[in-house]
Amino acid sequence: MDGIELFSIQETPEERVHDFIPQSFDDYIGQQELKEKLKVYTQAAKMRGEALDHLLLFGPPGLGKTTLSQIMAHVMSVGIKICSGPMMERTGDLVAILSSLNHRDILFIDEIHRMPTNVEEVLYSAMEHFRVDVIIGQGAGAKSVNLPINPFTLIGATTKTGMISAPLRSRFGISERLEFYCEEELRDIILQAAAFLKCSITPDAALRIAQCARGTPRVAKKILRRVRDFAQVANRDIIDLAFVEQALTFLGMDEDGLNKIDNLLLRTIVDNFQGGPVGLETLAALIGEDKETLEQVYEPFLLRSGYLEKTARGRQIPHKKLPYLKKKFFGQNTLL
Ligand code: ADP
Repeated sequence: MDGIELFSIQETPEERVHDFIPQSFDDYIGQQELKEKLKVYTQAAKMRGEALDHLLLFGPPGLGKTTLSQIMAHVMSVGIKICSGPMMERTGDLVAILSSLNHRDILFIDEIHRMPTNVEEVLYSAMEHFRVDVIIGQGAGAKSVNLPINPFTLIGATTKTGMISAPLRSRFGISERLEFYCEEELRDIILQAAAFLKCSITPDAALRIAQCARGTPRVAKKILRRVRDFAQVANRDIIDLAFVEQALTFLGMDEDGLNKIDNLLLRTIVDNFQGGPVGLETLAALIGEDKETLEQVYEPFLLRSGYLEKTARGRQIPHKKLPYLKKKFFGQNTLL
């Protein structure tokens, strides 16, 4: 096991089914400021009996955008439909979903920046006037009819702020960003998930997992599941710090909280490019990962923890980290 799948953007079906899903703002740990605002907005909309304003949520995968939207639907006692931008290939796909929404329901569209332009255009009049154009009939006799739909709330989630078109962005009444989580918040998310899984783990062991979770609840929960597997096989009733250390080593995570891909990426820049800069595409090709995964999964953590920096000419290792990495990868007596 090389630990790579621990950091994958996608959730496995097993994870979705056997997962603790926070149902209230109180269960949702962290993102305090955002939570307070959303509590007020949802409560006000509920008191008025109106749909909430359309909301755009920014943030890397796994930070809790879908979960937050589910909580909002729960609090407002409305339904929620969850879909993703690239899944909607034809305008008819979106029109069918929009027409099926009940009064005040939430439509959550993940990766909204990846929706085809013609499909996106359907959203404009749906968001603004709660109306959609439907084509009736076929061939020469086909005509477009403008039909009303129920007032609804669109929650658009995106990892790329710059890729949302201006007309779409302007139709959102609220626009908010999710932040990476601190280690203590992740520890609490791990303890919460562990309680749901009926798995005993000590707080310091949970904190150790949190330190390897890249500020991301989805990663924290994935590592917990793998550690739980080890505990099960080893017949351990309680997961403590020493056991977590062993499991992390087995999962390919080192004392810096870096996994094999992180180390390969850094080592490639040190070894092949004397610390950089080097373009992302070249790096991706050399280490055999796709560019998007590097950008979304590995880079944010390496950038935040000071192992990597972005320049106009590509990625490079910051000067003050270079000696440490040379020593780590090539030992003290390197000529590099
Ligand atoms: P996103 O939509 O941003 O990709 P998700 O909402 O799917 O992220 O969250 C990923 C996982 O992490 C889910 O299992 C979710 O329940 C959990 N999670 C995310 N944020 C929190 C939080 N603040 N508190 C507790 N669990 C969380």
